Amino acid sequence: NQSIDQVSLQAFEWLTKFYHHVLAHAKEALIGKQYLEERGLSQEIINVYQIGFSPHANEVTTKFLEKKSFNLQHLASTGVFTRNDQNQIFDRFRGRIVFPIRNHLGKTVGYGGRSINGEEPKYLNSPESALFQKSKMLFNFDLARSEMKKKGQAILFEGYMDVITAAQAGITNGVATLGTSATEHQAALLKRYVDHVVICYDGDSAGFNAAYKAARLFLKAGCQIRVATLPDGSDPDAFIKQNGGERFKREVIEESSTYMGFVMTFLKKGYNLKVEADRIAYVNKIIEEIAGLNSAIDRDHYARELANEHQLSFETILNEVNHLNQARGN
Ligand code: ATP
Ligand code: MN
Ligand code: MN
Ligand code: MN
Repeated sequence: NQSIDQVSLQAFEWLTKFYHHVLAHAKEALIGKQYLEERGLSQEIINVYQIGFSPHANEVTTKFLEKKSFNLQHLASTGVFTRNDQNQIFDRFRGRIVFPIRNHLGKTVGYGGRSINGEEPKYLNSPESALFQKSKMLFNFDLARSEMKKKGQAILFEGYMDVITAAQAGITNGVATLGTSATEHQAALLKRYVDHVVICYDGDSAGFNAAYKAARLFLKAGCQIRVATLPDGSDPDAFIKQNGGERFKREVIEESSTYMGFVMTFLKKGYNLKVEADRIAYVNKIIEEIAGLNSAIDRDHYARELANEHQLSFETILNEVNHLNQARGN
């Protein structure tokens, strides 16, 4: 008399092995194998992450599960298959590469399925369930935990491929959100293991915006943060594939910006600083940001930088900063 969750965990365990086996041995998975090879993933890393392939035909997943004596009625919440109005079964991930998503105990609780033929959406994830709560989990948390703790630092990526490519290059303290924005819950989770978090999102406007939001969230959770920025149009997995892990560490992680350094560059994108009104709005926005910093030394430092940047009086800016800072009750 097992709970639905226990049965689901067993089903996920079997399925992960099955999809992984399909990738390794099935003829129809050859394109999947070639795809991963082209993306630079070694057989070793494919094994570590138990990456798999879901066959194209329908009902392969469900037939496999039935053969393993599972009652499909009990597995609806796993989301690995769906039924239409005619009660016809569809395998959710058919024809896709599947990335198992493990919980903190290392148990698979969902999948990310990547299309390899341009089909949209590019990534299809398992639906939310009691076992799979995207806002509370981080991809690779189970494997990265000890390394994060040892280093005192975590790297937060956007995607599964970033984490896996980094891990292959020896950067094993990386985790990623599961296709949604970072949450307070995830920040608190990391804060329990590390003080330092490097936010390393894609070099596109979605990535910059998400990095800004994540940075504020992690600061609020009490983390020391840095924001790494990638060249325009690049992302961590592409950068590492192109330049290797050592250059990634040196040029991206070690050269990452402080929060304010990132913010001053990032927020500039939203203003036309040649226009007086915009310049004033920008300065006020940055003053607000500086006022939110906990350290008086940091506030002094950035007030000075802002004053110099715009030929303003340092005293006036610092006054305004301190005024706002006290109003916040800091
Ligand atoms: P790849 O290198 O395979 O293109 P990526 O990690 O660079 O993957 P991004 O487009 O940067 O992919 O997206 C980052 C993450 O956002 C993915 O890992 C996935 O979790 C999520 N994601 C991307 N596209 C979608 C989508 N269409 N639906 C749901 N989640 C998505
Ligand atoms: Mn992206
Ligand atoms: Mn990306
Ligand atoms: Mn990518």
